[in-house]
Amino acid sequence: MQIEIITTGGTIDKVYFDAKGAYEVGPPMVEQILSRARASVPITVTQLLRKDSLEMTDADRAAIGEAVSRSRSARIIVTHGTDTMVATALTLGGISGKTVVLTGALEPGRFTDSDAPFNLGMAVAAVQTLAPGVYIVANGQVFDPKRVRKNLELNRFEATEGPN
Ligand code: GLU
Repeated sequence: MQIEIITTGGTIDKVYFDAKGAYEVGPPMVEQILSRARASVPITVTQLLRKDSLEMTDADRAAIGEAVSRSRSARIIVTHGTDTMVATALTLGGISGKTVVLTGALEPGRFTDSDAPFNLGMAVAAVQTLAPGVYIVANGQVFDPKRVRKNLELNRFEATEGPN
């Protein structure tokens, strides 16, 4: 079972640039996390974007949709910033016959106390077991993008009643 991970940036990949005194999106962290975990499932990693998700445009979202549609794998993880993850997931709704899981991290994957390894591990398990469709994996849960929001105060995802 081949899994493709498409990376788009977000805090999971952020690095600290000392000279600028700011965090910027760096190279994808997923390979390091998978290698540390000794993950033996076949996974290819495609770096598509390096953006904070607040800066993503409609064209970026269209590019993510194209990459998912073009992928030869039927099981795809998209790593993405959490702020607009729901918006991107909703644009992928028309893709059929593929299991697509979006995940990311609230703390940079390079930090030892980051949530990135937990979230990526759960996404790898979820993408292998879920039926075709689009999902968000965060905070130890699998969410339907139509029924989830990021609670900015509590800094976590939570289910909503009605459709987004
Ligand atoms: N602004 C960041 C983003 O959405 C929020 C943190 C994160 O990546 O989850 O890219």
